[in-house]
Amino acid sequence: MSYSPYLLKGQKALITGASSGIGEAAARHLAKAGASVVINYHSGKEAAEKIVGEIRAEGGEAIAIEANVAKEEEVLKMFTEMYRQFGTIDILVNNAGLQKDAAFVDMTLEEWNLVIGVNLTGQFLCAREAAKEFLRRGVKPDISCSAGKIICMSSVHQIIPWAGHVNYATSKGGIDMMMKSIAQELAPQKIRVNSIAPGAIKTPINKDAWSTPEAEAKLLKLIPSGRVGEPDDIGKAVVWLASDDSDYVNGETLFVDGGMTLYPGFATGG
Ligand code: NAD
Repeated sequence: MSYSPYLLKGQKALITGASSGIGEAAARHLAKAGASVVINYHSGKEAAEKIVGEIRAEGGEAIAIEANVAKEEEVLKMFTEMYRQFGTIDILVNNAGLQKDAAFVDMTLEEWNLVIGVNLTGQFLCAREAAKEFLRRGVKPDISCSAGKIICMSSVHQIIPWAGHVNYATSKGGIDMMMKSIAQELAPQKIRVNSIAPGAIKTPINKDAWSTPEAEAKLLKLIPSGRVGEPDDIGKAVVWLASDDSDYVNGETLFVDGGMTLYPGFATGG
């Protein structure tokens, strides 16, 4: 992918859960477009440091910061450390997420709280800290026409119910209303808040669904475009939503799903 390295020049981006999958791709794409990136990681220290090294080797600027996004004190420390090293924040990619699946009647409160805590509360905590800095600093016209951009990683499951994954689907439905409410509140201050809703993307979170030919064939029945998505498909969408090219897009969800939300089961009747 070739971007102008000036597209996001001078902008500082934080990507949560960036030591693998979609977050890693988002960080690499943002760095290619000229942003300085913070690779937040929770468990993948070695992977995060490798990504930092590779971005630097290509002439980009990157650092890694550890934090559990579900813990307020760790989030506050992460932002403090980012400001110490980079001075400010222009782009937040609220990406960290996990699944802890169980049949509804078997789901424990711990499984429910873990997924809501990381996927929804984690996004709230990071968005709040980023927004405070956007408001403090305001617009710097030579950097961007926005005071700041927040991109929430949602899922097609913000609208498609998902049996056996009630905690996950609920967290993503919550992200939709959180994103829109923040966008409505902060739009007058020139802050943009949007979501990306990926369909099935080949990452560790859903390896069982695509890593064998049988599983992939079953998954493809849900994808009109006929291929499982790659992290790069999402990385490109992140760059567009982070750049001034999408300046008039606010409070929206961009579905990047190969048509999964076209309800392909209805293609032959219904
Ligand atoms: P992934 O497992 O590779 O990435 C998730 C990342 O979040 C990991 O790096 C993990 O270490 C990190 N993480 C987990 N708990 C954390 C915590 N408490 N604090 C900080 N980081 C934490 O999977 P992925 O597919 O790249 O997932 C990224 C996002 O995309 C998630 O929000 C996921 O729900 C969403 N998503 C993925 C798909 C898909 O098909 N892969 C589809 C829709 C949405």
